[in-house]
Amino acid sequence: MDNCLFCRIAKKEIPAKIAYEDEKFLAFEDIRPQAPVHLLLIPKRHITSLNEAPEGVEGLLGEALLRAREIAREKGIGTSGYRIVLNTARDSGQEVFHIHFHLLGGRRMTWPPG
Ligand code: AMP
Ligand code: ZN
Repeated sequence: MDNCLFCRIAKKEIPAKIAYEDEKFLAFEDIRPQAPVHLLLIPKRHITSLNEAPEGVEGLLGEALLRAREIAREKGIGTSGYRIVLNTARDSGQEVFHIHFHLLGGRRMTWPPG
């Protein structure tokens, strides 16, 4: 999608601090980090949100979780712990409409989230 911020980051049209990349996924630092480690993991394929995810992307979304787990391990928070957040639609606070998993860690999280 030409006018999608995260598609443009995936195409390297907009700079980002990239932490991980493979043929299907990209992880980069959030510009407003909420924790010492705060990455956004996106599929390069444009999916607007979980609500718009079509049948057939189960594998892709499942793989995203396993990639996030690997990245957490590489970032040194695999054992101390981390939180993966998938905001969806208005009440979640979703701001960017290209599906993304927040990977947060490096500090003690609170519950419930705000
Ligand atoms: P969400 O509220 O789940 O849609 O999260 C969107 C996230 O994208 C926020 O945490 C923003 O700080 C982050 N963000 C927005 N623009 C950029 C950008 N250009 N590079 C990196 N992160 C961004
Ligand atoms: Zn997109």
